[in-house]
Amino acid sequence: MSAQDCDVAVIGAGVTGTALLYDLAKYTDVGRIAIFDKYPQVAQVSSRSTNNSQTLHFGDIETNYSVEKAAQVKVAAGMVVRYLEKTPGAEDAFLKRQKMVLAVGEKEVGELEARHASFRRLFPGLRKVDRAGLAECEPAVVEGRPSSVPILALMSDDGYIVNFEKLSQSFLDEALKAKPGGIDVWLGTAVDRVEKSEGGYLVRTSGGDVRAAAVVVAAGAYSLLMAQSLGCGLEYSMIPVVGNFYLAPNRLRGKVYTVQEKRLPFAALHADPDINDAAVMRFGPVSKAMPILEPRNWKTAFDFMKLLRPDFDLLRSVIAINTDPVLGCFILESLLHEVPFVGRRRFVAAARKIIPTIKAEELRFGRGIGGIRPQVVNKKERKLQMGEAKIVADGIIFNITPSPGATVCLKNAEEDMRTLMRFFGGRFRVDEAAFAADFG
Ligand SMILES: Cc1cc2nc3c(=O)[nH]c(=O)nc-3n(C[C@H](O)[C@H](O)[C@H](O)COP(=O)(O)OP(=O)(O)OC[C@H]3O[C@@H](n4cnc5c(N)ncnc54)[C@H](O)[C@@H]3O)c2cc1C
Repeated sequence: MSAQDCDVAVIGAGVTGTALLYDLAKYTDVGRIAIFDKYPQVAQVSSRSTNNSQTLHFGDIETNYSVEKAAQVKVAAGMVVRYLEKTPGAEDAFLKRQKMVLAVGEKEVGELEARHASFRRLFPGLRKVDRAGLAECEPAVVEGRPSSVPILALMSDDGYIVNFEKLSQSFLDEALKAKPGGIDVWLGTAVDRVEKSEGGYLVRTSGGDVRAAAVVVAAGAYSLLMAQSLGCGLEYSMIPVVGNFYLAPNRLRGKVYTVQEKRLPFAALHADPDINDAAVMRFGPVSKAMPILEPRNWKTAFDFMKLLRPDFDLLRSVIAINTDPVLGCFILESLLHEVPFVGRRRFVAAARKIIPTIKAEELRFGRGIGGIRPQVVNKKERKLQMGEAKIVADGIIFNITPSPGATVCLKNAEEDMRTLMRFFGGRFRVDEAAFAADFG
């Protein structure tokens, strides 16, 4: 093996790539691992602390989740909690706060009552809080709200606000400690392309070529582009959905989510204290589709065009998505948010569902913050694919990670670690006892 060879190459040092690096370094005997990122620091795109909602999703306050989906995401979130609470230095990466989902109006209150009945076994700490209780524990959601409007919350004390950028750095630091000398970190190194070669892959980068026996691509929206350049995932296209935030002086003690529309995951407005600044709360996401793959980076529009690969299947998918009444109304509302004056007024009206006394003057658009969710379109099925997408081919895995991709980072890493072990056919193994001791 030359110095430029490795057993596993991980492309992308966001929370997905660094979590996998951590698992491989800590729980397997893989000999040499390389990790690449085009930026000089880890987690500068979706996992950056300002670019997402900073929520560890358990499925208790996310009303778009069924009991089955919530049970899965609870396991994944629990792995992150175990990591955060046991790893020295990781305490800087999170805050533990109360959290709730707030129902406003009779229909939503009825929905939450029913939800509590079916979810309380899975989440024993989730309790119903009525108007009087809310006035005590989260007064800003009650003040100024007409008493004729019924409200109810499902609340838990086990909410986690997470700085996924710091978590990524912590994964990298811990991986380096676990496998000293066994990891090559190529930050500030763009991967130009990945080619199939004898015995694995050739990773062509701005810093030179690296041969890898197996590759995991954790490059956000770019994962699909790399997959398609190798002839994989051609049935998929992508709609990049920007999620922006408004900021205001903080009046909240914890996270306040609202009832989600099941077909629009994570589109419902929520408000939460900012992990980076206790004096600030963030309202978001304000969503709209944009032809770019990284927030505020118009150079990526060209890559989006490559990814789009327009054909009749895509056209039919876009028509099907836009004529769906729920999605269509959402797209129209998002466009209205862009109209000067009208947009701001509509946004304030939406924000008052959470804090009735919020004033337009208190809200300022969060410039330079917010991210892009790479929502995958399945052209064959003519629909948006909800949640993460994974493409597994011969010795290579591609991860495409819209919400709640950061929450599931360690569960996803476990899955990729086990798939890699299958690729290697017994050459390397997982230290199951060590893994179970930490996450079992
Ligand atoms: C508005 C918004 C709110 C969200 N809120 C939440 C939330 O509250 N909770 C939650 O769990 N999830 C949330 N998500 C989703 C979450 O942020 C992502 O799923 C997660 O951060 C994805 O991590 P990643 O490592 O896969 O991608 P990224 O963090 O984007 O990392 C990909 C990395 O690949 C690198 N890369 C790309 N191309 C190349 C190349 N050619 N060469 C080298 N490197 C490359 C990039 O530089 C980047 O560092 C939110 C997303 C958005 C947009």
